Amino acid sequence: MNIRSLLRKNIQSLTPYSSARDEFDSVAEVYLDANENPFDNGVNRYPDPYQKPVKARLSEIKNIAPEKILLGNGSDEVLDLIYRAFCEPKVDNVISHNPSYGMYPVLSEINDVELRKVNLDAGFSLDAKKMIAASDEHTKLFFICSPNNPSGNLLNKEEIRQILDLKKGIVVIDEAYIDFAETDSWLTELDRYPNLIVCQTLSKAWGLAGLRVGMCFAAEEIVRVLNAIKPPYNVNVLSQEAALKALNQEDEFKKQLAIILDEKKKVEAALAQSPCVQELFPSDSNFVLARVENANALYDFLLERKVIVRNRSKEHLCANCLRFTIGTPEENQRLLDGITDYEKK
Ligand SMILES: *Cc1c(COP(=O)(O)O)cnc(C)c1O
Repeated sequence: MNIRSLLRKNIQSLTPYSSARDEFDSVAEVYLDANENPFDNGVNRYPDPYQKPVKARLSEIKNIAPEKILLGNGSDEVLDLIYRAFCEPKVDNVISHNPSYGMYPVLSEINDVELRKVNLDAGFSLDAKKMIAASDEHTKLFFICSPNNPSGNLLNKEEIRQILDLKKGIVVIDEAYIDFAETDSWLTELDRYPNLIVCQTLSKAWGLAGLRVGMCFAAEEIVRVLNAIKPPYNVNVLSQEAALKALNQEDEFKKQLAIILDEKKKVEAALAQSPCVQELFPSDSNFVLARVENANALYDFLLERKVIVRNRSKEHLCANCLRFTIGTPEENQRLLDGITDYEKK
């Protein structure tokens, strides 16, 4: 499969900006190359453009070579870079399933690239044939979100594999919630598919949404291109330091993950008993989607009690559906108490 031919023409011939840190990437004693202020305050120097210590640690955790990793200012930046690398505005198109993550349509509009949304079937299941039928010679990307937001479920691996095997475009699998799922990540298949990009994030299970660190794993050829078009200093010094610190405390990560998963079971059990819940969808993530009698009324009732949830009622297959993120044990209790009071009303 020729990945290069999928790139936009201007990107194929791009000469990237060469920063001071690109041209001298070793250790010196006196740095007079980047017009920085010399007085040390912890952030007076530009950050490492390739975030090497963070990638070295991620490489150990994920068992992926550092050359196959790209970091972004959140996965939102990573997704935008992918659009900009592959999609010619007004000409190319992108296929995604519906419902899915709200940033794909926004990024499509910003980049002036047509997004073709393919409805998921009942139970939020993916039909590869429909995704493939929606594609044409201008299709560059297929966006698959698994576990999916807002439904919470993993999408079927064999269906996704059919789209990868087609080798007609890049398949981006957004695994923002993969740490909560009891299944292997698509990372284990990276060597098998030159057209696979896996996106993950430190924003969810790792507890670092405020840092803005997103991860992209792909063949070296793709990572090289994304590196060439990203802003040189896209992950700041403080974020790199805090990310490395968190990645070195895997025990804390595992402890919190276990609590969240345990709490999810409790919330699911309570919702399943709840008279106002009509349907509870299986979740492989840190949130649950539930169909209730009247989503707007319950939303407003909870809001009055200062508990905010996400109303997804307007999405395909989501009529009267609310999405509940799993919080601390106390927060989840507030949610469940609120729902109980609503029912007594
Ligand atoms: C939360 C989320 C992300 C994370 O985005 P960041 O920019 O890394 O915070 C990515 N994809 C999906 C589907 C999400 O729900």
